[in-house]
Amino acid sequence: MRLVKRCIRTKDTFARLGGDEFAVLLETIEEISQAQLIADRIRAVLSFPLKLNEHEVFTSVSIGIAHSSNGYTQPEELLRDADTAMYRAKSQGRANYEIFDKEMHTHALSRLHTEMDLRHVVEDLFLNNTSPLQLHYQPIISLATGVIVGFEALIRWVHPERGFISPSEFIPVAEETGLIIPIGRWVLHEACNQLRRWQERTGQAQDLIMSINVSGRQLLQPDFTSHISQILEATQISSSSIKLEITESVLMETATCVTDQLAQLQELGVRLSLDDFGTGYSSLSYLYRFPINNLKVDRSFVDGLGSGQDQIVQTIIALAHGLGIDVTAEGVETSEQLACLKALGCEFGQGYLFSCPVDPEAAERLVSHPAYLVK
Ligand code: C2E
Ligand code: MG
Ligand code: MG
Repeated sequence: MRLVKRCIRTKDTFARLGGDEFAVLLETIEEISQAQLIADRIRAVLSFPLKLNEHEVFTSVSIGIAHSSNGYTQPEELLRDADTAMYRAKSQGRANYEIFDKEMHTHALSRLHTEMDLRHVVEDLFLNNTSPLQLHYQPIISLATGVIVGFEALIRWVHPERGFISPSEFIPVAEETGLIIPIGRWVLHEACNQLRRWQERTGQAQDLIMSINVSGRQLLQPDFTSHISQILEATQISSSSIKLEITESVLMETATCVTDQLAQLQELGVRLSLDDFGTGYSSLSYLYRFPINNLKVDRSFVDGLGSGQDQIVQTIIALAHGLGIDVTAEGVETSEQLACLKALGCEFGQGYLFSCPVDPEAAERLVSHPAYLVK
């Protein structure tokens, strides 16, 4: 409190709203740059380590700024918009500030709609057993043989009014609200069930591996592994037939909390894959310590193949192979990229060059007629 008070003028008000949220009311601000200056000062004073009982602690602050020129009639509206801007600042990384604008309000409203609709979707999923959620499947190819070795299950939401909503839009909302737990359970169950059905219907499906995305919130559930084994038992799927994809950034954020969970999953025989590799900040010691079987090189690197990024991909592949981990390239779109990846010794590929994610019926046709994808 004392530190922040030093940054503001005597006529300004500083208050605690609750928890770790504070508000500053700056009176008679002529230009927004004055508020920015104060925000900068607050960030600067709070960036120094604080001494607490002989311990040095570090803190940071995210700040949202709303200006009265937006025509507020009620104080709550000013606070609401400052709050929206603060959340935007938070999402841009720590220790930032953001100034509220109308676009943020539209975005916050649309996010709220997504959240409300998603709650109904989850309710329907479990109460009425009906749902606008679907899984589509994208084949994963062995680059050496051109054969489909498995599929990645990707969630699809077709909203009755808004149409297709991308998982990149609603998965973050599901994660923030905790709705990812029931949704994730449904995904796991549905993907395993689908694999079971293919195994029953086509001889070619016996060795397929189903890759399923799991979020950090799911992994942090203490009963996650036992839930997986229940699903495997209920769907009669062997643990070695599924691969869980965990995004690199999620694994790094939760690393210390999920070590035991990952060990239990390994014990169960489930394979683990590090998704979007190269976009987070991996600590190599984690790569070494965790029981990871596969790295998925992020699309952005595959995109750059042939235009200066070959070295990076080559290094990632060499690193993975050195640790006994195999590699899947994401987002393979051209035959040039494919040739490069083959030359670099990458084991698997996935991307529009082979097939985009398709519905279960089309995926089953791909399983039954694998020659279709051989390049
Ligand atoms: P991801 O796991 O990295 O999935 C790959 C994404 O790349 C998919 O996007 C896929 O449609 C897209 N893609 C595949 N090949 C190509 C290509 O050649 N070019 C381009 N430009 N894109 C390609 P999608 O389906 O929109 O999913 C986005 C992300 O949402 C996924 O990224 C994953 O992180 C998340 N997600 C999807 N389904 C689930 C789920 O069931 N649970 C969780 N927790 N996350 C999911
Ligand atoms: Mg994935
Ligand atoms: Mg990915």
